Amino acid sequence: MDLLTPTYPATHGACYAVFREQDVTYDGHLFVGVSSTGIFCRPGCPAKLPKSENCTFYPTAKRALDAGFRACKRCHPAGGETALIRQLITLVEADPDAKVTQALLATHGIDASTARRQFLNRFGMSFTDYARARRLGRAAKTLAKGGSVLDAQLDAGFDSPSGFRTAYAKIFGTTPAKGNPDPLFIEWVETAMGRMIVITDDDALYLLEFTNRKNMRRQFDRLRKVQARAVLPGRTKITDQIETELKAYFKGELSDFKTPLATSGTEFQQQTWDALQTIPHGQTRSYAQLAEMIGKPAAVRAVASANANNGLALIIPCHRVIAKGGGLGGYAGGLTRKQNLLDLESKSGSA
Ligand SMILES: [Zn+2]
Repeated sequence: MDLLTPTYPATHGACYAVFREQDVTYDGHLFVGVSSTGIFCRPGCPAKLPKSENCTFYPTAKRALDAGFRACKRCHPAGGETALIRQLITLVEADPDAKVTQALLATHGIDASTARRQFLNRFGMSFTDYARARRLGRAAKTLAKGGSVLDAQLDAGFDSPSGFRTAYAKIFGTTPAKGNPDPLFIEWVETAMGRMIVITDDDALYLLEFTNRKNMRRQFDRLRKVQARAVLPGRTKITDQIETELKAYFKGELSDFKTPLATSGTEFQQQTWDALQTIPHGQTRSYAQLAEMIGKPAAVRAVASANANNGLALIIPCHRVIAKGGGLGGYAGGLTRKQNLLDLESKSGSA
């Protein structure tokens, strides 16, 4: 990850451009309060673009609410989207074999087209495809545990072997076979400093990243390549664990994460990440000091790069590395979050 990349634009004009262009990569990081209507929105809201002079921008929904704006009923910037998605996911998890029809959604008071739009926005797939991916995820688990292809097919709720093979290959890029690797599961978690992506399996946390899409995409692609495993939407007990820890961390009540980690870097990256994790909560080091800590004082640039590419935001605390002389550096937007994290940690004391 790279906290030095702006998480929201520094100028009014650049913030406005995010909304004009419906740039949803800022979703969760930038909100607009509109003085003429008294409501606030997230990027990508389908409502009419407000006039620039009526806009005030906020990095969190909470700040917009604190400023007196009401949440927009169309884009649910305060988390209404999450609530609806949660409700639907709960429906699927409760009965994975049930066909989710428009009529079923209606009995739960859910509008099908709203559900469809929100799922596309969040997962890049429709709700129907999501439900199918979840069922195939169960099949993948069966195969990983040494179950037969037939068992896997039945677990995924497919009547025909060919239909199962086709659907499986589409998601996993390979044919179903005994001993195929477990999938990883991706979930989105709201935090006090914006939405984060969490990727886990039953044993460890693989990726934790603010959803600034440019960074996230790079980490995500690297993870998929290194792991050679499919990534499906869903939660594990590790997701629950890190979500609980994140809540405590942002309340200033946790300084030491216990969630088991799975890192996959080069030997040099691994050394850098190990050293990073020895910087205590509430303290900072310079890039040069970090290079010295791993016994390679000349490798400052390489250390900075490894620092930026760790993929486990907050836990491998790259935000605790600052420029020589104590300055944060030169990138306005990202530095806001970096400074916020350092402020939070200095207030909540050391481990
Ligand atoms: Zn809106």
